[in-house]
Amino acid sequence: MNVIAIVGPTGVTVVDTGGSPAEAHEIVTELKKRFGMPIIGAINTHAHYDHCFGNAVFEANGVPVMGHHRIPAHFGAFEGPRLDAWRADPTLEPDKDWAGVVLAQPSVLIHQPMEFTAGGRVITCLPIAQGHTDTDLAIHVPDARVWMLGDVIEEAGPPMFGSGSWPLDWATSLEELLLKVCPTDVIVPGHGQVVDREFAIRQARALAAVAQAIRGAWTAGVGIEDALDAVQLPWPKWMLRSAIEQGFSQLAAEHPTVEG
Ligand SMILES: [Zn+2]
Repeated sequence: MNVIAIVGPTGVTVVDTGGSPAEAHEIVTELKKRFGMPIIGAINTHAHYDHCFGNAVFEANGVPVMGHHRIPAHFGAFEGPRLDAWRADPTLEPDKDWAGVVLAQPSVLIHQPMEFTAGGRVITCLPIAQGHTDTDLAIHVPDARVWMLGDVIEEAGPPMFGSGSWPLDWATSLEELLLKVCPTDVIVPGHGQVVDREFAIRQARALAAVAQAIRGAWTAGVGIEDALDAVQLPWPKWMLRSAIEQGFSQLAAEHPTVEG
């Protein structure tokens, strides 16, 4: 998971707060050690646990956390219930360390594109249309020509169709965003190495192929297994299955059957 420090002359803004209080404390310690400046703000790229379960630690230290205005709704639908289920039975996800997690929504909710100066550095936050989630935020530092896109772009593995994903819209939302990105700009994904616009365009094409396969299977009335065979991508089946399930339920909601 990538944590990014936007360093200005008078302070540091951190992008993503870690997946637990322990990780958040580690981030705070590391930032103070490396830069010796106050942490003046934090920004969530999206609502998934590994990017924002450290929020409460920053807020307790008086650091405002910014994030997409739909994060509270996503917490209510997904991260909150997941945390409750884990608390009821930690063996469900033995690899998680969530004992001390306090679910803290961003203290500043972002509804529309906004530009501000933090620690002497200009930062832009742009809500992205629904894709990886409906809480995705693009964070841009214009003078460095760097974009932080959270899990809308994945380098460490294929894009993840996790909780609250929109597989039918992801490609279009990403393509729309990439119109603002220059060919020489740097993109920091949610996980893995930095990439360029060309990489992101290839990922958008792959996401478009998934959406097309889902729509094709839905129109043809075939089941999830046949739909899986139609996706010609070297991505794990369980991941594509999740995309198809979420895509099908979106299509079912858009085309309610008339009964009676
Ligand atoms: Zn994510």
